[in-house]
Amino acid sequence: MTHSFDPQKITLPTAHFVGGSYVDGPEALDVRAPSDGRLLAAIPCADREIVDRAVTSARAALKTSGWAGSQPRARLKALHAWADLIEKEAAYLAQLEAICSSRPVSQVVEGDIRVTAEQIRFFAEFSDKEGGDLVPTSDGQLGFIAAEPYGVIGAITPWNFPISMAGWKLGPALAAGNAVVLKPSEMTPFSTLYMAELSVRAGLPAGLINVVLGDGPVTGNAITGHPGIDKVSFTGSTRAGGLIMENIARHGIRPMTLELGGKSPQVVFADADPEQTVDCLARGILPNAGQFCVAGSRMIVQRQIAEEIAEKLAVRFGEESPAATWDDPAGFSPIISQNQLNRMDGIVRAALAEGAELICGGEWFDRPGSFYRPTLIAGVDNASPAVREEIFGPVATFQTFETEEEAVALASHETYGLCAGLHTKDLSRAMRMTGRLQAGTVWVNRYGRSSDHILPTGGWKSSGLGKDLGREAYLANRRTKSVLIDL
Ligand code: NAD
Repeated sequence: MTHSFDPQKITLPTAHFVGGSYVDGPEALDVRAPSDGRLLAAIPCADREIVDRAVTSARAALKTSGWAGSQPRARLKALHAWADLIEKEAAYLAQLEAICSSRPVSQVVEGDIRVTAEQIRFFAEFSDKEGGDLVPTSDGQLGFIAAEPYGVIGAITPWNFPISMAGWKLGPALAAGNAVVLKPSEMTPFSTLYMAELSVRAGLPAGLINVVLGDGPVTGNAITGHPGIDKVSFTGSTRAGGLIMENIARHGIRPMTLELGGKSPQVVFADADPEQTVDCLARGILPNAGQFCVAGSRMIVQRQIAEEIAEKLAVRFGEESPAATWDDPAGFSPIISQNQLNRMDGIVRAALAEGAELICGGEWFDRPGSFYRPTLIAGVDNASPAVREEIFGPVATFQTFETEEEAVALASHETYGLCAGLHTKDLSRAMRMTGRLQAGTVWVNRYGRSSDHILPTGGWKSSGLGKDLGREAYLANRRTKSVLIDL
C-alpha cells in the first residue's frame, strides 16, 4: 500500500486549539512546503490574551475533570485510548506532518506515529506504578515524600519531529496528572493540532491539551512569562533555550526542562568493522537530511582506516536521491527553509575558503524545493565554524587521530554534549572511552535511539537541562512534598 498523497487535496487545521475547540485568529505567519516551496497556509500568532485563555482553560480542565486526583488507572486507560486513536488516524496525521516538514510520509506512518503511540502508552504505565516514598524517621514520627503534579506545563517544540516532540512532552506531563499549553513550531504546526483534537475525541477532558500557534518572540515569550504556567518544558536550539531561561528569570523563578542543540561526534577506531561503521556513520547524518538533534555530524576516524572510511562514505552519500515528502517510496529529505539552506551553504563555503577539502557534496540538488547534497568536509580543526556550529543539515566534518588521547580531545566540544557514537571491537577501550566522552548519551557500535523508551535523553553542557524519555521524564513532571507527622 502506498502512502503517497496529493498535497493540494489536504485540509489543514490552521487555528489555535483551546478548551477542546478551534479558535481562529488573524492570519500572521506563512507555512510553506520545503519539498517545493509552495505556500500552504497562513496561521495566527497567539498573543498574551490567547495564551492566557489557554492557561485558564487548562486550569479549568484540571479542576472540573479532577484529572490529577482521578483513579490513576483511569488516567492510564484514557491515555491508551488516545494512543490507539493516534494510530488509527495515522494516514491523515502523517500527511499533516509530511506536507510542511522534512519527514517523508511513509516514515511518519511507520516510524514516528507508531513510536509516539507506544511512548504515550509507556508513560501512561507510570500513572499507577510510580508513587512517593516512605522514609525512615525517628520513633514516634511518620515521614514520607508525596509526589504531586505541577499543574499547567508550558511546552514548546521544534519543527523537526512535530509528532514525536509533542509525544515526548504530552505523554509524561499528562500521565503525571498535569494539563498542557503547547506551542508547536510555526513552520510545522498541523500534526500537533490534530493530535490535540484526537485527544478530545478519545475521551480526554477538553482543555487538558491546548495548542497555541505562533512564533518564539510573541507566543513563546507569552508562555514562558505567564504566571499561570507552573513549569516550562522546551525542546529547540541552544540559542532559544538561553532566551527562555532569561525570560523565565525575568518573570520569577520557575522549573524548566531544556532539550537543546548538539554537534555530536562519532569516534571510529581502526579495529571497527568498516561496513557496519560506515552504515552507522551514514545513519547518523543522512535521515531527515541531518536535521535531527543527535546528528553525528563530526566524524573522527583513526588514521589507519580514514581513507577507506572516507571513500566508502562518499559513495554512500552519493547514492541519495531527493523526493518530495508526499512521495512514497521516500527519498532524501528537503531542508526546512530557504534561509536555513543559505545559512548551511554559507558555513560550507566559508570552510572551503579557509582551506578545507570537500570530499563530496557542497551544492544544491538541481530541482525545485530546498534540497542539499550530503556533504563531507575534511581538513578542518576544532576552531572551524563547520566543526563548532550546529549546522542542522546533511553536512559532516571528517577529522583524523592517532591516539586515544587525541580522539578524546577532538570529540570534546566546548559548547555541546548531547550524545556521542563510538566504534570499536575492543571492550576495554569501549568502557574506558564511554567514561571519557562528554555527552548525555553514548552509543557504542550503533548510532541512534532504539525503542527502549526507558533510556532517558538529554544533553550535558549547553545541550540541555533535565531529561526527556525514561522514568526521569515522568518524574520531571511531578514535584515532591516532604511530610513529617508526629504520631
Ligand atoms: P528553535 O529554537 O528555533 O525553535 C524551537 C521552538 O521554540 C519553536 O517552536 C520556536 O517558535 C520557539 N522559540 C524560538 N525562540 C523562542 C523564544 N525566545 N521563546 C520561546 N520560544 C521560542 O529550534 P528549531 O529550529 O525549531 O529546531 C531545531 C533545534 O532544536 C536544533 O538546535 C536541534 O538540535 C534542537 N532539537 C533538540 C532536541 C533534543 O532532544 N535535544 C530534539 C529536537 C530538536
